[in-house]
Order: sequence, then structure tokens, then C-alpha cells
Amino acid sequence: MAYRAEYIWIDGTEPTAEVRSKTKVLADGDEPGIWGFDGSSTNQATGDNSDVVLQPVFQCPDPIRGGNNILVMCETLLTADMSPHPTNTRAGARAAMEQYGSQEPWFGLEQEYTMLDPATSWPAGFPAGGFPAPQGPYYCGVGAVKIRGRELVEQHTTWCIEAGLAISGTNAEVMPGQWEFQIGPADTVTVGDHLWMARYLLYRAGELHGLEISIDAKPMKGDWNGAGMHTNFSTNEMRESYDAVEKAAQALGGPGKPEEHLAGYGVGIEDRLTGEHETQRYDQFSYGVSDRGASVRIPWQVARDGKGYLEDRRPNANADPYVVATLITNTCCGALA
Ligand code: ADP
Ligand code: MN
Ligand code: MN
Ligand code: MN
Repeated sequence: MAYRAEYIWIDGTEPTAEVRSKTKVLADGDEPGIWGFDGSSTNQATGDNSDVVLQPVFQCPDPIRGGNNILVMCETLLTADMSPHPTNTRAGARAAMEQYGSQEPWFGLEQEYTMLDPATSWPAGFPAGGFPAPQGPYYCGVGAVKIRGRELVEQHTTWCIEAGLAISGTNAEVMPGQWEFQIGPADTVTVGDHLWMARYLLYRAGELHGLEISIDAKPMKGDWNGAGMHTNFSTNEMRESYDAVEKAAQALGGPGKPEEHLAGYGVGIEDRLTGEHETQRYDQFSYGVSDRGASVRIPWQVARDGKGYLEDRRPNANADPYVVATLITNTCCGALA
């Protein structure tokens, strides 16, 4: 019997790229091959030369449709010479893996997001047009007054597991209506494949539950936490040596590095990295053990065990995981090589 492949790609929306998808019906036994789309409708081409190529690069079971249906993550290529489209950030991640794969880079991404009422764009869990009690009881909270949207979270987690994605946990966040899931550990390319796929499933869960998903880095101004994508990172050497962990943390603070990284860490970084709400200011770099006010945190267990990983706390929720993982791989593996 025929089956469906949902082709998924990352568009050219500015300032923050979004996920797009369309369905191909395939005959039993046929593999999903190269396809295309109208790039003039996704900010990836002009109308007079509109075709952009979809190259399947990663596929998994489609947990929404079930059966033998699949989800297919694609890279975008130019028709002229089949080279990566300028918006194809996965190409950079592939290059970083080719150069530094022998160091076995691992990433764990903590994707925070906010559920919004689609009619008002106001956060779920906030009273209509008003504000809930101040932050404090909501983080990892339990109970109907504190929590909104848990059914959506459970649906999403089940789908990620059934799709075979490396989801490693979920939690309710500090602001009402804000949640987190984690993907990893996985290498520089795979972590982006799985995170983008998990974002796709999250938006689909939002459709089902009537909630809009926002990865805005600071959805509510004022005394409300922003949304980040903390990035946990290690190499084979860091997993054996504390010296290597410190060396990697120092490399992230090297000449010109904070600016270079922040440019790829998502839109609105100054609004979120204020020095308040468990962040370091965007114009300062620091690292420290257990320090949630530092740019880079070394978890206390890592200091105790004398080996492990570091957490770059700066990336925004709206960052592109391929870009973040590429930057950290090149900077840290470059310094450790
Ligand atoms: P936090 O305490 O900052 O909230 P989380 O538990 O939310 O941390 O996320 C930690 C992430 O780090 C998980 O995705 C986990 O898989 C990942 N992780 C654990 N060990 C490593 C490691 N050695 N290298 C990279 N990532 C790791
Ligand atoms: Mn976390
Ligand atoms: Mn968090
Ligand atoms: Mn964290």
C-alpha cells in the first residue's frame, strides 16, 4: 500500500527561520528521493527562479500518522549546481563534524518554549489580558493553578520517543505557560536533526491542543524569565579530564569569540541576557562552577568527578541548533585539537 513521507525543511524567514513541511505519497517499496518547493514563498528564492531542491538527509517513523509513514528532514540545495542553499546551516555542521568528528563532540540542548493562546497571543496560564502571581511556584510545579498545557507536553514527549528522537527529559519552567524539553546527547549534526524534528512535532502537538508554540526569547517583558536553549557540550577528552573542560570554557571566552558566538545564538539576545533572571549580561563573559549567573556553567558534579561537560547558557530558544553546535564544535574542538 502507498505510504506518506512528510518532507520537512528550514525556511528563510527573517529574523528567525521556521520549519515548513509538505506531504509526498509514495508507492510501497519506493524510497523518498530528491524533491523541490517554491522558494519564492519561503523567502528562499525570487519568483523568476523559484525552485529550491529538497535533499532527504534524516528520516524517522511518523508517530502522528503511524503505520509505515515517515518524517524526512531535508537540506535545501540550489538547482544550479546542487550546492547548499545560503539558508542551509546544516552544511556547516557537517563540515565541523568532518573536521572534528574524531573528538566525538556531544551536545545536549535544553529547548525552552512558551505556549500561547492563538486568539490573543497571550501566554497560556496567564489570565486573559492580565498577569498571574509572580514567579516562584511554577518551575517544575504541579497542580491546576500553576500548570497549563501538560497534556500537550505528554503528547509531544510520546511522539518524540516513538519517532526515535534522543529526547532526554521535560520540565515546566519558571514562567507560567513556559516549558522545556531536552535533546541529547548527540553529535554536532544529529543534535540539530533531532531538535528540528522535535520542534516540528511540538508545533503539530500545538495544532492538536489549540495552543500556539513560541520560541521567542523574551515573550513577556518585565519580571518574567526569557526562553533559552542552554547547550551542554563535551568531547571525549572533556569526558576524561577536568583540564579539558576548563580549556573549552576558556576557549569560549577567547579573543573575539563571545561576539562571534552571540551573533549565531539567536535573535534578541540583548533582551534576554540582561544579567537578571539566571543570565550573565550579553556584553560580559564568565564561567564558573554551579553559577547560573555565568555565561558558561560547569555543573558541580563535573567539578566533583574531575571530568564531564560544560553548559553554554547563552543561546536563545529561537537559535538554530545547527549554527550553535557548529560554533561550539569549531571553537572548543579547535582549542582542544
Ligand atoms: P539543567 O540542569 O541545566 O536544567 P538538563 O537536565 O535540563 O540540565 O539538561 C542537560 C542535558 O545535557 C541533557 O540533554 C543531557 O542529555 C545532556 N548531557 C549530559 N551529559 C552530557 C555530556 N557529557 N555532554 C553533552 N551533553 C550532556
Ligand atoms: Mn534544564
Ligand atoms: Mn530551563
Ligand atoms: Mn540548563
